[in-house]
Amino acid sequence: MKNVVLLGSTGSIGTSTIKVAEDLPDHIRLLGLAAGNNIDLLREQTRRHRPEAISISAPAKAAELRDSLGAVTDVYSGGEGLIKLATLPTADIVLIAIVGTAGLQPALAAIRAGKDIAVASKEILVMAGEIVMSEARKHGVRVLAVDSEHSAIFQCLEDKPPGSVRSLWLTASGGPFRTTPKEDFAHITVERALKHPSWVMGQKITIDSATLFNKGLEMIEARWLFDIEVGRVRVVVHPQSVVHSMVEFVDGSLIAQLSTPDMCLPIQYALTYPNRVRSERVQTNIAQLGSLTFEEPDLERFPSLNLARRAGELGGTMPAVLNAANEVAVEAFVNRRISFIQIPQTVARVMDRHELVAHPKLEKILEADAWARKEAVV
Ligand code: NDP
Repeated sequence: MKNVVLLGSTGSIGTSTIKVAEDLPDHIRLLGLAAGNNIDLLREQTRRHRPEAISISAPAKAAELRDSLGAVTDVYSGGEGLIKLATLPTADIVLIAIVGTAGLQPALAAIRAGKDIAVASKEILVMAGEIVMSEARKHGVRVLAVDSEHSAIFQCLEDKPPGSVRSLWLTASGGPFRTTPKEDFAHITVERALKHPSWVMGQKITIDSATLFNKGLEMIEARWLFDIEVGRVRVVVHPQSVVHSMVEFVDGSLIAQLSTPDMCLPIQYALTYPNRVRSERVQTNIAQLGSLTFEEPDLERFPSLNLARRAGELGGTMPAVLNAANEVAVEAFVNRRISFIQIPQTVARVMDRHELVAHPKLEKILEADAWARKEAVV
């Protein structure tokens, strides 16, 4: 039985994690739940799963929850609440599924308290991968991947050292604009960008999947999770989203992990690792799937991939700058202040103006993040 703290319980990954916990009541206990604003869903989840503690962003909402839930559950709020949950003495693992960068401090607090972490929030590793991984090594805890691509790579690697790997191959669905001609990119609307062909996800990651920034962030995430330089992390477009990623070993062998797309599978693997636990949720009929296809990504229509590669190669504060500028640009696009093609243009402009700090401490990363957010505003 694993005692799990779930940060971001009301989101897309959060609600899938709750399904996994309900599938496996003998293996997973939800010890703590944290949400941003969705008080009604958090209340319902609390009544159903009776966690020891919960947290919500606004103190006023925490007070409301205390009134309606009584004394059985401790209710916290804000950044402090997230840290309180991440360090609950009886927690075994903390799953971080908060959109954006608010999960970074709780992730570090969990590691320092000796907890394994399961990371959905890729922003954490993009911003501060070097710090997170070195703290995890220092405290002897695991950093497990929830992202389906990184879970696939983790399953294919099976503890083989980085020296046995030629390349890591991240598969990308290609998003809704895989076949859209370049001339049409200037007219892409928010509604079209929010229609992902194979995954149902939160709004930010759905837009990132349309620009392929999501894949760019994943390249940097893979660099840190698997201790492999960005140059050896490659991207291939695979529209069916059945091969979740692959490892190419030095002897030329390629090992892949496959299933119909369902985030419950990588979530379950992270929470039950190192065991495989029986579940009927994900079924894959390989014959019915027919053909699986692969193609090169188009770097001209999707400049985000080269921007992320550049940020990953430069390292230091640059990935945090890429991530922050992209977050601001996505928000501006969703609020119809900029066009789709201005998203990568904004990120490129901010990256060009950044004075890089190599091997930064957390403080410098947070400074670079704040600087990039201001600089990105149009
Ligand atoms: P959603 O937008 O669906 O959910 C975000 C969650 O974060 C919600 O529970 C939200 O709460 C919560 N939240 C936001 N801010 C805070 C805060 N300050 N304190 C506490 N909770 C907060 O996002 P997703 O589930 O899609 O994505 C979450 C993360 O997982 C992202 O980093 C994404 O890149 C990553 N990811 C997602 C995948 C997917 O399939 N969705 C796949 C792989 C990675 P509320 O709703 O109550 O405001």
